[in-house]
Amino acid sequence: MIELDGITKSYTIGESQVRALDGVNLMIEEGEFMAIMGASGSGKSTLMHILGLLDLPDSGSYRLMGKQIAKLNDDELATLRNNVTGFVFQQFHLLGRMSALDNVMLPGLYSDRQRDFCADALARLKTVGLAHRADQRPSQMSGGEQQRVAIARALICDPMLIFADEPTGNLDTKNSYEIMRILTELHRQGKTVVMVTHEHDIAAYADRVITMQDGKIIEDRRNGGEAERPERDSTMMQVEHQPLFNPSRMLGFVAQAFRSITANKIRTLLSVLGILVGVASVIAMMALGAGAGTSMEESLKSLGSNLLSVRGGSAKVRGAARGTGSFTRFTRQDVQAIAELSPLVSRASGYVNGSVQMVYLNKNWSSSVEGVGFDYGTMRAAMPSFGRWFTREEIRSRRKVAIIGTTIVSELFGDEYPVGKTIKINRINFRVIGVLPHKGFGGHRDRDDVVYIPVTTAMHRVLGRDYLNSIYVEVSSAENIEPAKGAIDALVRKRHRIRAGDEDSFYIRDMSEFKEMLSSTTQTMSTFLGSIAAISLVVGGIGIMNIMLVSVTERTREIGLRKAIGARKSDIMVQFLIESVGLTLSGGLIGIVVGIGVSVMLSTFAGWAVKTSIFSVVLASGFSVLIGLFFGLWPAKKAAGLKPVEALRYE
Ligand code: ADP
Ligand code: MG
Repeated sequence: MIELDGITKSYTIGESQVRALDGVNLMIEEGEFMAIMGASGSGKSTLMHILGLLDLPDSGSYRLMGKQIAKLNDDELATLRNNVTGFVFQQFHLLGRMSALDNVMLPGLYSDRQRDFCADALARLKTVGLAHRADQRPSQMSGGEQQRVAIARALICDPMLIFADEPTGNLDTKNSYEIMRILTELHRQGKTVVMVTHEHDIAAYADRVITMQDGKIIEDRRNGGEAERPERDSTMMQVEHQPLFNPSRMLGFVAQAFRSITANKIRTLLSVLGILVGVASVIAMMALGAGAGTSMEESLKSLGSNLLSVRGGSAKVRGAARGTGSFTRFTRQDVQAIAELSPLVSRASGYVNGSVQMVYLNKNWSSSVEGVGFDYGTMRAAMPSFGRWFTREEIRSRRKVAIIGTTIVSELFGDEYPVGKTIKINRINFRVIGVLPHKGFGGHRDRDDVVYIPVTTAMHRVLGRDYLNSIYVEVSSAENIEPAKGAIDALVRKRHRIRAGDEDSFYIRDMSEFKEMLSSTTQTMSTFLGSIAAISLVVGGIGIMNIMLVSVTERTREIGLRKAIGARKSDIMVQFLIESVGLTLSGGLIGIVVGIGVSVMLSTFAGWAVKTSIFSVVLASGFSVLIGLFFGLWPAKKAAGLKPVEALRYE
């Protein structure tokens, strides 16, 4: 069954080489019960590890049931460890976080066979006389009981070979005899048992005893007659390749991950905090961005539709005219001429503005004045909510009448009803005839802190200039905007005798440009906010990676054990990835709740416009999964790459 030929294994300690095994030749027949004896350091454990597939020899050949072990790959070795060999360690190596039953069932997680491992595990616990302690944790058990649980675990996948490295080394005599009774019984049932011990009365249970010294077998002795045993078929050697995504196995991994995540709650909470904050800020910022976008759109609507503005100066410098350029001075005759461009233009209004000082009784207020034409109110959705709009006659004959915004109402009048009262604008008496509808803030400007007066009055009586700042034009329909621009351009050029080669001294702007400007501002803002959120997600991810690396180091022995009972590289990898994704995803989900909470609070208490979208929730959850995968990959790889013996020996 087992053929070893010229096996050597050396370890390098510092400068020197230790030959732990020095040309070991050994044949073990099926059904044998063999004990390995020898002084400490003679190479017994090294030999056992090689026999149990936990380590590979430096040279020599190892044939297990006819197969060359050296030719097998990692996954095939894992499968053999899982269901052909069972290893019992001197230090038991039970996982402290699990019950005895779960410990016994653990190899089932890595098995390709579909069985009810739970029932089997109970049966195995019964075999070792511990069925009544199935729910207890290793820490609640004596050493002898722990070793019996470990034996039950070695038996769960029905291995043909049992390897036990000083199974009684840490036990008292009574428990040692109990363990030996179990091993003898297994041997009687037909298992091949190989055991290391340095006690002669323990070795006496075996039918064959070999003795080692300095990495060599120096004695091979049989106790009594050897019974012939029937040859068993070796179907167990068939290595099946299971797909990685086996649902029930995945479920098992998720349960394991859940267990280890919840094992250390404070640490888990602290490590997901970064992700939590990151995701919460992504959600809140996207809600704010979307809310700002919507409220801007609404305020754009209140600016009026199909609106053009015609201004003097050059448009090349955004918003402001360049100092050197010439400057077309528009007159009310220009407004008249543009308004008559039917059917492209439906209405037009002149516009001037400036700043003024306003006084009512003993109250003072500086504000901006806007001189507007008759059609301005309807064009810009500014018809008074109290009182009335100007009449054509008032505008024509430069009357001193004013319509004031709500900010001015509260600053000058408080609770008093303003319509019909007289105020002073730049020391000239004006009669208030109406109150403008509330418009709120536009950007950083209070759009209610404004007073409207007739454009003629503004030009000639208040601001003292004989030209308009701009002309607002309402185009008859959205399709006519471009033709109207062309017609107005031609008209202005003709009226002001601007020749083709001249530098532009006026420009026409439509609201779409304004909209673009606004949306590019919002875009810049959301990109900025988004990158802050992304940075915090990355920082959170690094935190997760850190915690996963700590976890891998901390659980090196657990990983070694899992590999020893048949976990493949991919199994370990997947388990750690599920853990890191579990961490980031739970952080992400809490973060989503917190983010939505913050947005709701911002809108109720600070009055900000917010709009949470399903998209941001999906995006945030997707991102937290990706971050878990990305930052969990390295620790998971590190864990999967550990060698079973080295990991088990890790202190
Ligand atoms: P035994 O189990 O018979 O006491 P081992 O097989 O554990 O002996 O060790 C055999 C020799 O190899 C000893 O000299 C030991 O110091 C050395 N050895 C075992 N494992 C290692 C290791 N991981 N690194 C370095 N030397 C080792
Ligand atoms: Mg040893």
